[in-house]
Amino acid sequence: KTTEMQPNSAGNDDILPAPKTNLKSLSRAELSAFCTERGLKRFRADQLFQWMYQKDVSDFGEMTNLSKDLRAELSELAVVGTIEAASQQRSADGTIKFLFRLADGHKVEAVLIPDFDEDGSAKRLTVCVSSQVGCVFGCSFCATGKMGLLRNLSPGEIVDQVVKINTVSEGAYGKGITNIVYMGMGEPLHNYSAVTESAAIICDEKSLGLSPKRITVSTVGLTKQITRLADEGQPFRLAISLHAASDEKRDKIMPINSSLNLSALKEAVQYYHQKTEMPVTYEYLLFDQFNDTAEDARRLARISKWAPSKVNIIMYNNVAGVELQRAREGRLDAFMRALRDQHVRATVRRSRGDDIDAGCGQLAIREGAPKGK
Ligand code: SF4
Repeated sequence: KTTEMQPNSAGNDDILPAPKTNLKSLSRAELSAFCTERGLKRFRADQLFQWMYQKDVSDFGEMTNLSKDLRAELSELAVVGTIEAASQQRSADGTIKFLFRLADGHKVEAVLIPDFDEDGSAKRLTVCVSSQVGCVFGCSFCATGKMGLLRNLSPGEIVDQVVKINTVSEGAYGKGITNIVYMGMGEPLHNYSAVTESAAIICDEKSLGLSPKRITVSTVGLTKQITRLADEGQPFRLAISLHAASDEKRDKIMPINSSLNLSALKEAVQYYHQKTEMPVTYEYLLFDQFNDTAEDARRLARISKWAPSKVNIIMYNNVAGVELQRAREGRLDAFMRALRDQHVRATVRRSRGDDIDAGCGQLAIREGAPKGK
């Protein structure tokens, strides 16, 4: 974000031109400051914001409501970094998986998941976005976890996924996206500032203007960040990736549980609900003969009573090299019956796009991905 003149790396006195500011690396407030520091009127920041996040324009030359002089000046000072759609695959069920290339060559995936009405029209179009390149938490069932963490995404790189997919959605389904879930690659609350900033940009009426109620941020259970969401009054929905209902089983598949166990999670969830009065959602991947017994259902029912909540039981798409397997249909039925008997609000979510490896836990960049830490 610096615009100062700097000596070059050889350490001699030659002065290199100042690096250009990437306007997409700035928050809304920083963009306003960037404009006012250069003597520009406040509304210029709004115009730039709109071009970048509503119209997906990154070339100042195309920003036609800015004067020619201003466009030239901005080209000298700044760039609008953008991500590039490297490829796109469409599943038989209408799910579309996107591979995006970032400016430094790293890649992330995101998914557009349509839900259809009986007449075949799309009633809900959900984007599952990535928040990090890889992930450090190493959940045993997750392909992204096997990459390690390479880096965080910036707010602009997160919003870009949504803006670009919104355009595809309009073309493919005749309407823009309606919901966003931060459940792609990475642990969203491990990249807290960029995630909350990107969600705020997406809700801004000069961007996509989505209601915060339609944005869900998921976490494996980072308790400090859950508390922070509550303290800051962040208006987005919270989902907990639970996937096991006892410490013993959770320890086996989610390393985070050894430091932040279920009792820590309970405290954070209850604090969150007390402060925000919002319900939470528990995501529970059902694995065959691992977490699908009657005892698991009883424990899950108890957890669901920590605070008002609903439970999504997700049918896992098997991942190569992972021992855990998707639960069989008969076991799913018995598990759902057991939950309903205990008055749990539970829904089955069929993982989508399994023919294109777009399902929960399957996102990972395969071809020649470098290893993170
Ligand atoms: Fe990371 Fe989420 Fe995968 Fe766990 S499930 S390794 S937190 S991306």
